[in-house]
Amino acid sequence: MNDYDVAVVGAGPVGSSFARQMAQKGFKVGLIERKKEVGVPLQCAGLVGEKIRNTNLLPEEFIMNKVYGAYLYSPSGTMLSVAKGEPAAYVLDRVAYDKFLAEQAVEEGADLLLNHRVNRVDIENGEIYVKDHGKISADVIVGADGQGSFVSSHMNPPSKTVQAAQYLVDMGSNVFNSDYVQLHVDSKVSPGFLWVIPISESMARVGLFADSSYQNLNQILKDFISTDKQFKGASVVKKYQGFIPRHDQKKKILNGRTILLGDAASQVKPTTGGGLIIGFKCAKMAADVVSNALDVGDIGLLQNYPKNYMKEYKKELRMQLEVQKIFGSMTNEELDRMFMKLKKGGAESMISEYGDMDTQSTLIKEMIKNGLLLSILPGIILKGLFNLWK
Ligand SMILES: Cc1cc2nc3c(=O)[nH]c(=O)nc-3n(C[C@H](O)[C@H](O)[C@H](O)COP(=O)(O)OP(=O)(O)OC[C@H]3O[C@@H](n4cnc5c(N)ncnc54)[C@H](O)[C@@H]3O)c2cc1C
Repeated sequence: MNDYDVAVVGAGPVGSSFARQMAQKGFKVGLIERKKEVGVPLQCAGLVGEKIRNTNLLPEEFIMNKVYGAYLYSPSGTMLSVAKGEPAAYVLDRVAYDKFLAEQAVEEGADLLLNHRVNRVDIENGEIYVKDHGKISADVIVGADGQGSFVSSHMNPPSKTVQAAQYLVDMGSNVFNSDYVQLHVDSKVSPGFLWVIPISESMARVGLFADSSYQNLNQILKDFISTDKQFKGASVVKKYQGFIPRHDQKKKILNGRTILLGDAASQVKPTTGGGLIIGFKCAKMAADVVSNALDVGDIGLLQNYPKNYMKEYKKELRMQLEVQKIFGSMTNEELDRMFMKLKKGGAESMISEYGDMDTQSTLIKEMIKNGLLLSILPGIILKGLFNLWK
């Protein structure tokens, strides 16, 4: 008899959400976390689209701010203003939210084993080994252990990641619109970008991600804060850093009785690096498949997890990878020209109407249909985007 029906490695938001759903369904769940305390240190901007309401629990107390729109800036400062007229996204207290999600898993009956670092996995036999604690056996192992996933290293070559850096900034007495997030593009960081995410009327998370070293990112962030006049008199309260996995369509997310979930499975949006909503959706998908496989007693049914994931996400993620490639190849002059053309072509109202933080294909389709993309992208690139829907 195994110790658990399911052993989940990693009590991040995605692993905890999966563990809660499995425990709710009546399975014996072990949630194994290397840290002494869930959720620390903060490694997130905490911005999620309002769709989170359909994908996970979100009590109001974890929402620090509601944002209604975004200001998108080109390198030389052309600004597109897009808004929904109602909250389009929430800024979360990620540390408290991660703790809440882990507590919910425990409340449903999962065992949360803190200070348990998994340092060996036997994928075939469903055994994991924890430093100083020994062996834990389970019918199914779930690697939800984040971007540097140890479990994934038993199934895949090392994951590719991009570096992220973020400051908590006290904006002082500056006039600052806390209803809008800001995204700044620049070829120095693209296909990454800089963000200013207000968490209150006077505090913001200011950060960026790029395929570069932390030292470079830190320098870019310092330059941004010292030259952009909205930060005059502002002060940096805290600095954070982290890694974001590059979405990898070839990643194996199932091997025998082991599956990968969340950042460990590179389930992140290629354009923004956001992994919460897609991770939560995949946690639900995985919980449905794993519970069915355990109920029927047929581990072979775990095959449905990668199948369902591909069915739901393949096209959207491929399209985002294409968009990311296009952005990554553009110079600052090209980015500026593109923003000007978008502004003139009425993109602000179109993005406001069809833009969605999580599903960008709807907007791209609309822009192709209306001819706006034709005016800014060479036909050959457009053809590539168009082919994605075939
Ligand atoms: C700077 C930054 C900003 C971001 N901003 C956003 C954003 O605004 N919106 C958004 O949606 N996403 C954002 N993300 C991405 C988001 O944070 C991740 O997608 C999300 O945390 C993934 O959750 P997870 O549960 O899969 O992994 P994680 O949150 O990484 O959790 C993995 C857990 O596994 C544990 N673990 C690792 N190895 C072991 C081991 N060997 N044994 C036991 N436990 C282990 C870790 O300690 C950790 O608790 C951002 C990321 C960064 C770095």
